[in-house]
Amino acid sequence: MMISRDSNVSFWRGNWLSKGPLRNLIQGHLTQGATHLEVKDVLTDMGWDWSKIPFELPLDVKSLIQAIPTPFTSRGRERISWIGNPRGTFDLRSAYSIAMGMEIDIIVRDFGWIWKLNTLPRIKTFLWMCAHGSIGVKACLVRRRVVEEESCPICQRALETILHALRDCHKVKEVWRQLGILRTDRGFWTSNLQDWIKINSKDRENCFQGNPPWNILFPIAVWNVWKSRNMLIFKRKSQNLNLSYEIVNQVVEFLCYVASPRNPT
Ligand SMILES: [Zn+2]
Repeated sequence: MMISRDSNVSFWRGNWLSKGPLRNLIQGHLTQGATHLEVKDVLTDMGWDWSKIPFELPLDVKSLIQAIPTPFTSRGRERISWIGNPRGTFDLRSAYSIAMGMEIDIIVRDFGWIWKLNTLPRIKTFLWMCAHGSIGVKACLVRRRVVEEESCPICQRALETILHALRDCHKVKEVWRQLGILRTDRGFWTSNLQDWIKINSKDRENCFQGNPPWNILFPIAVWNVWKSRNMLIFKRKSQNLNLSYEIVNQVVEFLCYVASPRNPT
């Protein structure tokens, strides 16, 4: 399938993607300006202009769009460009690997509940990307052929999967224990990624050690674990020994100023 640059097809509702309308892959509310976008508004001579979209599209959705061959004028000639290889020429092998990658990334599972969580918008986006297996851990990057080596840069003992980065790496385990998770909590330590995110993000009951509700604490903790890990790996900062304390403080702040600004508790 090829999409034409002067296409009046609706960017969100048109059936121009192999996976059906783009709107079905995007959760949340579209702004007035974004609703009426047509394919031709976003597809320019130079390729897809993501700045035309007033929010950040998830990476896996972008790759899905980029995998579609688009004609563009080059020195007066029309030609087809294929994102699957550096020369832009179509080949079956790269098409196959993109298609396989997509099957892994865009599993037809409903993650709409993530957008209803009581947390900050950037954390919802982060959890949504985690649930789709699209954050920058080695296991995801290897699949996208960005890097070749898959072991965790911190412990070098395991494959750097999303769960390893956010839950299982030994430095991270310590943070979760400080936040009240017991070593023996099998449900927490053994569930798969999607269940782990869902069960913990919705768990209103558990209140460890007088901490704020777990469904508020967990998303903020995951986000901080990820940020702290990146500081350690990319900025070579030393391990933040107060992370669990800072997480609880952020949760308290969130509850006072963001969650219910009129009724601080
Ligand atoms: Zn590790």
